[in-house]
Amino acid sequence: MRVLLAEDDADLSRQLKSALVDAGYAVDHAADGEEAHFLGDTEPYDVIVLDLGLPKIDGVSVLERWRRDGKATPVLILTARGAWSDKVSGFDAGADDYLTKPFHTEELLARIRALLRRSAGHASAVLTCGALRLDPRAARASVDGEPLRLTSLEYRLLHYLMMHQGRVISRTELVEHLYEQDFDRDSNTIEVFVGRLRKKIGSDRIQTVRGLGYRLSALPGEAEG
Ligand code: CA
Repeated sequence: MRVLLAEDDADLSRQLKSALVDAGYAVDHAADGEEAHFLGDTEPYDVIVLDLGLPKIDGVSVLERWRRDGKATPVLILTARGAWSDKVSGFDAGADDYLTKPFHTEELLARIRALLRRSAGHASAVLTCGALRLDPRAARASVDGEPLRLTSLEYRLLHYLMMHQGRVISRTELVEHLYEQDFDRDSNTIEVFVGRLRKKIGSDRIQTVRGLGYRLSALPGEAEG
């Protein structure tokens, strides 16, 4: 899953970015409203964290533009303490959730998980697909109760596939949701990662749909998540 972090405070940005990366997300950072708007407009993020007090273009205006252009990405706004009217204008502009500064990083991570869950239509915090289980709170996955040892990219891949299980996902879509913007993105490497993941979770769980992409589903006889 890929996150856009739009925040102009350098220290806070660094801290949040590293917490998000540790939690298993691909993260792009924008330090002003112009860059935030551009990235949100051109890249398919799964969730956006948007500070309202941004240089160049303020956060509310950025959000209004995205929504006017039909971008439905879940957006969590960061507001200054006591600025209740910011929250109102943020929600009116199309925000899905908010946090007031200062906040605990754990709370931000929990809210992001909730937004992702809701936008993908999942009810519970833990994702399951047959004997496969992925817990975004701990960034861990298991098969039949056996913990999986996944690299961060394998984890991102499995997380995305589990969020969208049962649906055919193209290699392009995977590339767009697994890598940061400045990463040398090559859709051929996805095949390699899918191959490695198959070895770890059982090769039949990810089907190749020729010419279209990949689909994760439960094995026959297993319960769907
Ligand atoms: Ca700010």
